[in-house]
Amino acid sequence: MRCYRHPDRDAIAVCVGCGRGICEDCAAKIEGKFYCKECAEKLFEHPPHYVIGSLLMIAGGGLVSSIPILGFFSGVLIFLGFIILIFGVLEIVAGHWLWHSLRKGGTLGIILAILGVLASTILILLVPPMASIEAIDVIINVVLIILIAVGWNTLH
Ligand SMILES: [Zn+2]
Ligand SMILES: [Zn+2]
Repeated sequence: MRCYRHPDRDAIAVCVGCGRGICEDCAAKIEGKFYCKECAEKLFEHPPHYVIGSLLMIAGGGLVSSIPILGFFSGVLIFLGFIILIFGVLEIVAGHWLWHSLRKGGTLGIILAILGVLASTILILLVPPMASIEAIDVIINVVLIILIAVGWNTLH
């Protein structure tokens, strides 16, 4: 069998996800199984919940700023929203890195997830009404950290 991306090369494995042949350069070993680039990316794809959440937060911050009493918080809210949005974009970049350099991508993913938890915690403390929304974000990030940590030794 030949590599599906490199017809001139012999496949060293068959992708568990799609069954296509993959050469040494195209194979990603995850938890003892071989995957092609596309299937590995799907496996590690981090949903852009941050981007959507942050856009909502920025919009929410704009709305809140129209209420004079909450005016103080809105500036902080918009600021944090932007920071979390940047984290989100960086996490997506980290996801793509996972393919090229799995350990580096994993390290960056863990760092960003921890920063995400911190940002969400600050937001919960500053804006109690946001707590239920932000708690979901914290849980997602903690799960992400656990997933990366668990898969750490299988990354290469
Ligand atoms: Zn595949
Ligand atoms: Zn190949």
